[in-house]
Amino acid sequence: MPTKKEKIWDVIIVGAGPAGMFAANEMADTDLSILIIDMGREVKKRICPLGHDMGCTECKPCHIMCGVGGAGTLSGGRLNLRPDIGGDLSEVTKDLEKAWELVNYVDKVFLKYGGPTELHEPKGEDLKHLRRLAAASGIKFIEIPQRHIGSDHAPKVIQAFADDLEERGVKFLLRTKVKDLIIEKGRCKGVDTVRRGEFRSKYTLMAPGRIGGPWVEEIAREKKLAASFGPIDVGVRVEVPAIVMDPVTSINMDPKFHIHTPRYDDFVRTFCTNERGFVVKEWYDGFIGVNGHALIDKESNNTNFALLVRIQLTEPLENTTAYGRSIAELATTIGGGKPILQRMGDLRRGRRSNWGRLKKNLVKATLKDVVPGDISMALPHRVVMDIIEGLEKLNEIIPGVAADSTLIYAPEIKFYAMELEVNKYLETSVKNLFAAGDGVGLSGDIVNAAATGVIAGQGIMKSAGVKKP
Ligand SMILES: Cc1cc2nc3c(=O)[nH]c(=O)nc-3n(C[C@H](O)[C@H](O)[C@H](O)COP(=O)(O)OP(=O)(O)OC[C@H]3O[C@@H](n4cnc5c(N)ncnc54)[C@H](O)[C@@H]3O)c2cc1C
Repeated sequence: MPTKKEKIWDVIIVGAGPAGMFAANEMADTDLSILIIDMGREVKKRICPLGHDMGCTECKPCHIMCGVGGAGTLSGGRLNLRPDIGGDLSEVTKDLEKAWELVNYVDKVFLKYGGPTELHEPKGEDLKHLRRLAAASGIKFIEIPQRHIGSDHAPKVIQAFADDLEERGVKFLLRTKVKDLIIEKGRCKGVDTVRRGEFRSKYTLMAPGRIGGPWVEEIAREKKLAASFGPIDVGVRVEVPAIVMDPVTSINMDPKFHIHTPRYDDFVRTFCTNERGFVVKEWYDGFIGVNGHALIDKESNNTNFALLVRIQLTEPLENTTAYGRSIAELATTIGGGKPILQRMGDLRRGRRSNWGRLKKNLVKATLKDVVPGDISMALPHRVVMDIIEGLEKLNEIIPGVAADSTLIYAPEIKFYAMELEVNKYLETSVKNLFAAGDGVGLSGDIVNAAATGVIAGQGIMKSAGVKKP
């Protein structure tokens, strides 16, 4: 563990997630001295205190979101091998071919460290049928080749990756929170940490992931980094009998559908499908939300997925985070501090659900700690209309998904980090300060985060005038 604070590192990376680790991987075989600082723990110590699966969202978020490997890598570790899922990498590279090359490269690195050789690729007659149905309904079905590392296997893959980085000279400083950047005369000169003080560097890479989003926002404001607010996704978690979703989950375990709604022409998408999974509560600072997960050793009879409406604001309020928070707070107030649960039939008829109707309902909720209520009292009218219309459109290709008995939980809100303005090497408006991954608004999944790490690593090498041996 590095102790000498007076040492000037060539590169300091904030965050040991995919973005940080892939950036280090790019630079590791050069003469650059590299220090990765992360507020989380080493892989083996990232254990859920309640003994739950790594995907558990009931525990301290720190074990899920922080530490070597970063966020979801240790949870599901589903690699979406497409540049336009989990952000749009081609917007970063400005070149679709380059974006695909990066995706393939990231895949190879995961394979090198023991990623599963089995590739799940949608194919066959069923796929053709689904494509036809989707096209006829004007819905875009995104076909995603995926690799499932799996939560039982992911720690081994991440450990092998981290061990190799260490063998190649990269140092890790864990359980250390970066609180500030040292910026002098327009150049970033390192970081200041909570208990260990300052660490100086020639180059700094910010890769703090979603959990670091608020910190990035603060730094951007204080240090006047060029940045803008990204969109947010506001919506619900939908739960249906697994048998309803089987025809599509058998083609793609986590099928993504992109829909434009008739009334508002808004963009609505499905996200994070959990086959035979469970809906879970998520606590945020000041409000409650829902999410979903699938467990290895326990299955339910239901499949759940998020149905999310994209919201981008212009004037007078660009701050989508503030808008999202106020929606989540209203939903929490109306739900008496619990998520709201409503049957699709009740939502359609404009009446609240109650325990009596839920008891008789065909679909039984996997999340019990809820309040039966009316989602239209909690979410903006436009979002509610988008949800109803989106589900009804989806019903054209997945019959039964918009049945009266379908369960809808609210709110599910995905906040995205503020997007830092970067050049093609991912250098920010402050000299020698680079940015990568979800926390700076450049990606939204493991593969894309890793790819931005690769670009930033190469950018730093170019700026430092070093080449891979
Ligand atoms: C439960 C869950 C499941 C998921 N499943 C999948 C999946 O199956 N497939 C997929 O593609 N994506 C999944 N995701 C999303 C995926 O995890 C992220 O897109 C990806 O990890 C982003 O990588 P990153 O390197 O940008 O940030 P992260 O992986 O979030 O890593 C950031 C790191 O920075 C550290 N950090 C933050 N702030 C500071 C600070 N101030 N000082 C020091 N350290 C700091 C954190 O501790 C963290 O370790 C999931 C996410 C979650 C939460």
